Amino acid sequence: MSEPLLQVENLHVDFQTYGGVVQAVRGVSFDVFAGQTLAIVGESGCGKSVTVQSLMGLIPMPPGRIHQGSARLRGQDILASKMIAGQDIRGSQISMIFQDPMTSLNPTMNVGSQIAETLEVHRGYSKSEAFARAIELLDMSKIPEAAKRAKQYPFEFSGGMLQRAMIAMAIACEPAILVADEPTTALDVTIQAQILDLLGDLQKETGMAIILITHDLGVVARMADEVMVMYAGEVVEKGSVDDIFYRSGHPYTQGLRQAMPTNNKSTEAEQTLVAIDGSPPDLFNPPRGCAYHPRCPYAMQVCAQQAPPTSILGPTHQTQCWLHHDMAGALPDGLVSGNEAGR
Ligand code: SF4
Repeated sequence: MSEPLLQVENLHVDFQTYGGVVQAVRGVSFDVFAGQTLAIVGESGCGKSVTVQSLMGLIPMPPGRIHQGSARLRGQDILASKMIAGQDIRGSQISMIFQDPMTSLNPTMNVGSQIAETLEVHRGYSKSEAFARAIELLDMSKIPEAAKRAKQYPFEFSGGMLQRAMIAMAIACEPAILVADEPTTALDVTIQAQILDLLGDLQKETGMAIILITHDLGVVARMADEVMVMYAGEVVEKGSVDDIFYRSGHPYTQGLRQAMPTNNKSTEAEQTLVAIDGSPPDLFNPPRGCAYHPRCPYAMQVCAQQAPPTSILGPTHQTQCWLHHDMAGALPDGLVSGNEAGR
């Protein structure tokens, strides 16, 4: 297999607040390869956005702090490098599209000039060259009458067109990695599908990798090659999209899947969505052992005492759960008190 474009190892990010230290990201590791789509999934507050924003220098420090770990982009340590706080990485080699394009674009500048500005800053284009390229990028992003639209302001665009303009801006510098943070949440279903198709087409044309941050498993099934499931600031399962959808090994991933609506269920019982009981833990003081144990229907005594080691479930598939440990049969049995309702 080729070398990864991005290698993240044991990343820890916390936030110092008046109430204490929020341990938002706790030992996250992953690789991203050229042309691949990695989806990072999990409930709100699981640390998926903070993980990527910390790599891009987008979290305010203080109160944020990366206190452990490394991240290498094409072998270069982007956390140790000054570039992380500057502009070389952000917008040139890694760029990002956000959930709400209306608040991400400047309402006082026309759309073409906003895209052109990226090229002037990162690529040294002249104003006229940059504006001409901005029109090409809008055209690539399937905005009709791109030359006319480039001179219009964000308020003159629909939600779907604004997201296309954001994509045009994000790909302007031909990034190696495009981060899409909930890129379709603010859009209706038909426009969602068009935006996902556009991202897929651009990926085929340019060979860029995509990191897709989402809580929508439907989007994951459609777009992702690899999936990383996060819970309470940790990675609990990683695998190919088939590993996660057909062979998931972690009770949390299974819970997310059961909460996902599908068209393939015929009986009423199959159509009932099953919610995961309880709420995500307090990251000021994460639970000891497996962070999921207060909600897990299969929790054993060991789960509340010791963090589970990594279990390899297949060539591309791994999870952090005591159920898959070689010694699982010999582990101290019995439910952790309070979980009986979830069983
Ligand atoms: Fe459940 Fe224990 Fe596995 Fe955690 S380690 S997911 S509590 S069975």
